[in-house]
Amino acid sequence: MKNTEQFKGKKVLVLGLAKSGYAAAKFLHSVGAEVTVNDASPLENNQEAELLIKEGVQVICGSHPEDLLNEEFDLLVKNPGIPYSNPIIQQATEKKLPIWTEIEIAYEISEAPIVGITGSNGKTTTTTLLYHMLNIGGENPLIAGNIGTVACTVAEEATENQIIVLEASSFQLMGTENFRPNISILTNLYEAHLDYHGDIESYRKAKAQITAHQTAEDYFIYNADQKQVEEIALQSRAHKIPFSTNGKKDTGISADAQQIYWNGEPFINRSVIKLPGKHNLENILCAVAAAILLECEKSAIVDVLNSFAGVKHRMQFVKELTGRKFYNDSKATNTLATKSALTAFESPIVLVAGGLDRGHSFEELRPYMTGVKAVVAIGETKERFSEFAKSCGVKSVELATTMEEATRLAYQFSVEDDVILLSPASASWDEYASFEVRGDRFINAVTAL
Ligand code: ADP
Repeated sequence: MKNTEQFKGKKVLVLGLAKSGYAAAKFLHSVGAEVTVNDASPLENNQEAELLIKEGVQVICGSHPEDLLNEEFDLLVKNPGIPYSNPIIQQATEKKLPIWTEIEIAYEISEAPIVGITGSNGKTTTTTLLYHMLNIGGENPLIAGNIGTVACTVAEEATENQIIVLEASSFQLMGTENFRPNISILTNLYEAHLDYHGDIESYRKAKAQITAHQTAEDYFIYNADQKQVEEIALQSRAHKIPFSTNGKKDTGISADAQQIYWNGEPFINRSVIKLPGKHNLENILCAVAAAILLECEKSAIVDVLNSFAGVKHRMQFVKELTGRKFYNDSKATNTLATKSALTAFESPIVLVAGGLDRGHSFEELRPYMTGVKAVVAIGETKERFSEFAKSCGVKSVELATTMEEATRLAYQFSVEDDVILLSPASASWDEYASFEVRGDRFINAVTAL
C-alpha cells in the first residue's frame, strides 16, 4: 500500500454504508483516520454498522441528522448511490469539503496499475473478459467493482506485480479529484441514470472522469463510433486507442465482418469468438486492446474469446435443447439492453420479456422486433408488452404468470435452430429480489424442461 500517511489523523465522514462504505470506513480506521460513519438504516438491522462499532468506529445510524456537518471534517467519503442532491452532500459542497467515493481511495493506495472500465453498457462484460485474458496470460490480475470485491479492499492487497481490473460506474466517478487509471476504457455513452445525474451533461461529465486525470503516460480506449465519446477523447491527454466495429481502421483496434485489426493489421479472426452480438464485439475490442497494451500473450486472448460464453445473466448462453439455444439476459433491465440482445442473433427469436412497470415505453424496440417470431410476456408489464408485440406484427403472443410457465410456452413456440431469449426490457423488482434471482429462475426452468 502507498500514500496511506495522508489519512492519518484526518477526520473523515463516511456517508452511507453497504459494501463500499463499510470497506472505506474499515480501511480508513485501520490507517489511523478519525472516522465517523452515518447510515440511514437503524442499528438493529445494520450488520455493517455493528461490525464497525466493534472495531471502534463512531457510528451514527437510523437517520441523517442535519447538524452532522457542524463538526469539522477533512474529507467526506460517500456511498456511490447517494445523489449530489442529498442535503448533507449539498452542505458539504458549500463547505468545499472534498467528496470522494471509495475508488479514489483505491487509486491513492494501490501499488498495482489500474485498468478503469466505464460506459453506459458493457462494463461488467468487458471487465470480466479482460480479467480472464490476463489471468490465463499469467498476469496475476485482480477484479474490483460490481462483480468483484470493493475497489479499496482490493487495492489494500494489491502488489506492484499485479493489475487491478476495475469496473467503475458514473456514480463512483462523479467528482473524483485524482483518480487516474493507467488504462481507461469508455465502452459507450447512452442516456441513462438521468434520475441520479439530473441531465445528460452531468452524466457525460461523470463518465469523462475516467480519463480526466490521465496524462501522456496513460492510455484511453474509447468508442470511436460514437460522436459524444469522441468529444470526450478530444479532451483527454492520454495516448488514444480508438475502437470501431465499422470496418478496418488504420489506428487503434477495429473489426470488419471477418477480422479484428490492431493498427490496421489483422490480429485475430472473428471466427474464434464465441460471444454473440455486435455489442459484445465492442466489449471484446476494448478488452483485447487493453490486453495487448498489457502485453498479454495472444494465445491467452484467443483462448478466452474461444471459450467465454458471457457473464451470468448478460446474454449468457444457458444450454442447447433439441436444437434450440437458450440465452439468459435477465440483466437487460431497460429497452436499450434488450435492443442490443435482439440485434445479436441471426436466428428467429422467441422472446420472454416484461417486468417492473415504470411506465416506460417499449417503442425503442420496434425496429428490432422483426427477428422476433413469438413473445411470452411476464411480470407487471405483461399486458403492455404483449400489446406492443402484437402491434409490431408478432403473430404468437402469450401471457405467463410464472417463469416456469413462460419457459414452457417459449419452448412450445420454438422449432429447431431458434433462439429462446429472456431479455425483459424491465427491472425485476415486481416479482423478484433482483435480476440475478429472475435469471436463476429462468436457468432452473430451462434445466427442468
Ligand atoms: P454493465 O455492467 O455496463 O451494466 P453488462 O456487461 O452487465 O453492462 O451488460 C448489461 C446489458 O447491456 C447486457 O444484458 C447487454 O444486453 C447490454 N450490453 C452489453 N454490452 C453492451 C454494449 N457494448 N453496447 C450496448 N449494450 C450492451
